[in-house]
Amino acid sequence: MTSKQRIRLALALTTTGALSVALLSPAAAGADTVRPECPRNLACDWVPAAYQQTGEPEDKESYGNYDTADRPGSSGIKFIVLHDTEEDYATTLNIFQDPARQTSAHYVVRSADGHVTQMVKNKDVAWQAGNWYLNTHSIGIEQEGVATEGATWYTPEMYRSTARLVRHLAAKYDIPLDRQHILGHDGVPPTSADGTKNMHWDPGPYWDWNRFMALLGRPTEPSAPKSSELVTVSPDFTKNQQEFRDCEKNSALPRQGSSAVPLHTEPSADAPLFSDPGVHPDGSPGTNCAADWGSKISATQQAVVADRAPGWTAIWWYGQKAWFSTPAGAGVTTPTSGRVVRPKAGKAEVPVYGVAYPEKAEYPADFVKPTVGTPLLYTIKAGQAFPGGGEAPTGYFYAPTIDASKPYDHTYFRGGQKYVTVQIGHRIGFVRASDVDVVRSGS
Ligand SMILES: [Zn+2]
Repeated sequence: MTSKQRIRLALALTTTGALSVALLSPAAAGADTVRPECPRNLACDWVPAAYQQTGEPEDKESYGNYDTADRPGSSGIKFIVLHDTEEDYATTLNIFQDPARQTSAHYVVRSADGHVTQMVKNKDVAWQAGNWYLNTHSIGIEQEGVATEGATWYTPEMYRSTARLVRHLAAKYDIPLDRQHILGHDGVPPTSADGTKNMHWDPGPYWDWNRFMALLGRPTEPSAPKSSELVTVSPDFTKNQQEFRDCEKNSALPRQGSSAVPLHTEPSADAPLFSDPGVHPDGSPGTNCAADWGSKISATQQAVVADRAPGWTAIWWYGQKAWFSTPAGAGVTTPTSGRVVRPKAGKAEVPVYGVAYPEKAEYPADFVKPTVGTPLLYTIKAGQAFPGGGEAPTGYFYAPTIDASKPYDHTYFRGGQKYVTVQIGHRIGFVRASDVDVVRSGS
């Protein structure tokens, strides 16, 4: 499902600085006849999400379920986030129409027939990604389904509709059709190190990413270079039979086809699973819980090979080596040409962020909440490389009230520091362009 997580950091007032400010005009969304923003070949309707106050009339900061904006405007829309609802279609529509639920998405796709309902206009910011930077710069699409029940919900009709919608939106807003811009909720980074363990992991290991990216016209290329340090993970969904656990219900999930490939600390099936330090702060090993995303790489995600052993491949993963089984001829990876990021010469370690916000000094001196990024738990060390180098706009959208009644309310603060995407592990991150070299690999 989704979450609001509108980050409100109280930071000290700071100096003046050069800043590009664009005012986004707030406008109330009416429940009148709005034509859904869908491609022509898609069955689609419009049911507006709530845009109402939830507290006392004078309390303009308590409201749901989204923020008005003027996207793409100066903020840009550069990402699409796929979710699953964990509720049925009708209940999901009810939730998004209840402002007390503090959650929404731009679109909901029905399992049985692939019908699409738009609930938030694309110009507005839905509360869906659990990361305010991603909310500001993305469109969220909910698939009706339950992640641990997986493939039973994700029908051919649903894949077809979601793919048509994503192709339409990507063309309209110039969103790259790669896995650093077409994300699952499980690919969205936390805004800070502390938030890692609260991040969502839908649509989960049973969403068929190979199938979906092929429908987008971006199949994993079998014609790529014969050997490359950059690989795309490409297991056949049906043949990639995995046994995961539903650790919320403490039950084993049936062995079944999956997009997820388990990652180990050594080249052995008996070695511990990889442990994301944000999920396991006590240093305990990773688990085969469906929710433990750090111990799995997903089909269509890319990685840089760090080492090889007979039948096993190591990749750089959250700044360390992670191993997975790659028996000869099994097609678990496909050599790929593309861009990777490396620390610039002389840099021992490069910080990774979950947001691309302006620097403190770039906000106006009289602005009370200059929100800046803090490094995540992962770094890129000298000698390592990660897929990346994609576009990530630098900016922070300030929208604390329902009616834009505070100073600078509904302003998009654009920053001058350029960031690029990095596939640091299961979730993407952002690095300062000045910290890294972006180079072609595999060509
Ligand atoms: Zn979600």
